[in-house]
Amino acid sequence: MLKGNWRIPTETLSGPGRISELPGRVSDLGIKRALIVTDPGVAGLPFFAGIVASLEKENIAVAVFKDVHPDPIADDVAAGVRAYGAHEAEMVIAIGGGSGLDCGKSVALATATSLPLWDFEITRTSPELDRPIPPIFAIPTTAGTGSEVGRATVVTDLTLGRKIILLHRDMLPRLVILDAELTFGLPPSITAWTGMDALAHNLEAYYAPGWNPFADGIAVEGMRLVKEALLTAVSEPKNVDARGKMLAAASMGATAFQKGLGAIHSLSHPIGAKFHGHHGLTNAVLMPYVLAFNRPIIETRMAELAASLGVGGGFDGFLNWVLELRSRLKIPHTIAELKVTEDSLDFLAEEAFLDPNTPDNPRPADAGAMRKILVGALHGSLDGLDR
Ligand code: NAD
Repeated sequence: MLKGNWRIPTETLSGPGRISELPGRVSDLGIKRALIVTDPGVAGLPFFAGIVASLEKENIAVAVFKDVHPDPIADDVAAGVRAYGAHEAEMVIAIGGGSGLDCGKSVALATATSLPLWDFEITRTSPELDRPIPPIFAIPTTAGTGSEVGRATVVTDLTLGRKIILLHRDMLPRLVILDAELTFGLPPSITAWTGMDALAHNLEAYYAPGWNPFADGIAVEGMRLVKEALLTAVSEPKNVDARGKMLAAASMGATAFQKGLGAIHSLSHPIGAKFHGHHGLTNAVLMPYVLAFNRPIIETRMAELAASLGVGGGFDGFLNWVLELRSRLKIPHTIAELKVTEDSLDFLAEEAFLDPNTPDNPRPADAGAMRKILVGALHGSLDGLDR
């Protein structure tokens, strides 16, 4: 049956230099006081002071909350809410990679409720808010997570040692600015890891079960852009076209994954929470093993994808392209190289099974199946995962 729920995401200004349109767009909302949420690394980048100055020139009073950890934690959000209140802000401008954007979106959510953050976990029914979530503008400075076009955030619960996905439809930013020049300073490693995150989103969305041809089409084009631009973005950091294409691919991945994600993400979340590797890097390491596990269900679909991307060779052609890309990006082949240990596999497998993305993996995966994938990924072996 052709049935599905679709949401086309938010207004996006895409193109180099378009950050200059930010002050005008804030003023258009009649807003005079804004809180910028970001992390210390991004706050120290050359363009950052210019953004603040441009807003102040437009008579917008700006406060900056920049104490966001990589993989934000609940305390970051609470501190951001205090900064929002102290400044009497009327909106949040989230600038950064996924960590800054997720924290900014979560701060906006938390200003609208007195409930604990975890009540908004994606697995629960969204509770009523005390007041509307203030407007959020999102300006990504990495090209990977696509958080700028999403209604979800990822916040780590240090007590449980878990990455929690929070969801509220009004966390969808009102405006996105995709300005390639803001990503010129991204080092090659983070460019590669975040780019593989964008690939993982498009890929898992593409083969997630369900009827959403919008998502399917967006995902295929998102992967084509990654194929065209990622290696260039790594080797030529100021290649504005490659950077712009990667920003688009990242937004497309997160647009497409409203259809669902799968076991790459289910496994990546507990590994990230326990071993603190970069999310995109962990996804990249796991990708071939999850592909091999899913092979019996996705073989035909992957052959169609391989043909669309011009890599040919059916399922194996796509898998080999991923392996080659990973190797050219200097991404490790095993999770052992991410410091994952054999004695953690039972815990990781159980947590991965419980992850909200697991039901959307095309091949059903219980904790035993998750463990099997982890063992393959630990020892660098793709053999037998499809059985
Ligand atoms: P990140 O935001 O943690 O940033 C990584 C590093 O890059 C930081 O040190 C940051 O200061 C630096 N950086 C950012 N932009 C830069 C630039 N232009 N130049 C130089 N340095 C720059 O990394 P990320 O991969 O963008 O985000 C990861 C987070 O996003 C994780 O917490 C992950 O769980 C989350 N995530 C969220 C979603 C979602 O839908 N909300 C999806 C995937 C991942």
